[in-house]
Amino acid sequence: MNAIRSLPRLSAVLLAFAACVAPLAQAFELAPLPYPHNALVPVIDEQTMQIHHGRHHKAYVDNLNAAIAKDAALQGKTLEALFPGMSQLPVAVRNNGGGHWNHTFFWQSMTRPGQGGAPSAALQAAITRDFGSLDAFKAAFKTAGLGRFGSGWAWLIVGSDGTLKITSTPNQDNPLMDVAPDRGTPLLGNDVWEHAYYLQYQNRRGDYLDALWQIVDWNVISARYAAATSTAR
Ligand code: MN
Repeated sequence: MNAIRSLPRLSAVLLAFAACVAPLAQAFELAPLPYPHNALVPVIDEQTMQIHHGRHHKAYVDNLNAAIAKDAALQGKTLEALFPGMSQLPVAVRNNGGGHWNHTFFWQSMTRPGQGGAPSAALQAAITRDFGSLDAFKAAFKTAGLGRFGSGWAWLIVGSDGTLKITSTPNQDNPLMDVAPDRGTPLLGNDVWEHAYYLQYQNRRGDYLDALWQIVDWNVISARYAAATSTAR
């Protein structure tokens, strides 16, 4: 008798538990770095990588999961599915969803010094076509990073017409979001938040941006370009 009477209560408890664990089952996760924390030395020091990945990126993931857990309509969706409608979503999803995606993209864009190869023939041709030369592209990319006031990102994107463009976004916005002034598929994104470089470079953001070319993984950037241009046309 007692067991039967307690069934509704048991159901409520089970439903509450399901509501708790369901978001957990689909929660975003902090993946390990694709290389050791000291792999990017001397361009980026080990402590910066430990703090940047283990604390900053982790906080974006934790805060994103907390924001998503509050809104059933957002659950079970990829960030790429949410970005085009970002202007209508809570600012916590914008900041932390962008933070999670941007950093994951950033880690994958880098490799050990000297191991990044060169742009593919197709990407090099597009860079020459749209910027004049690789050096001219690098100079313009640095200008975009230096020109971002406060915190944000510099990006190389490819538009739906196949044209390359350099742009920058504030905070953790990115060119996949509808709030971005220049939208396109990101090929390269450089983090110009002070937390990305301050321990080693202090206020010298330009030196950090110059040094990053030693660790940009052109194999990855070229593969992104190939994927973007094969689906865009
Ligand atoms: Mn960062």
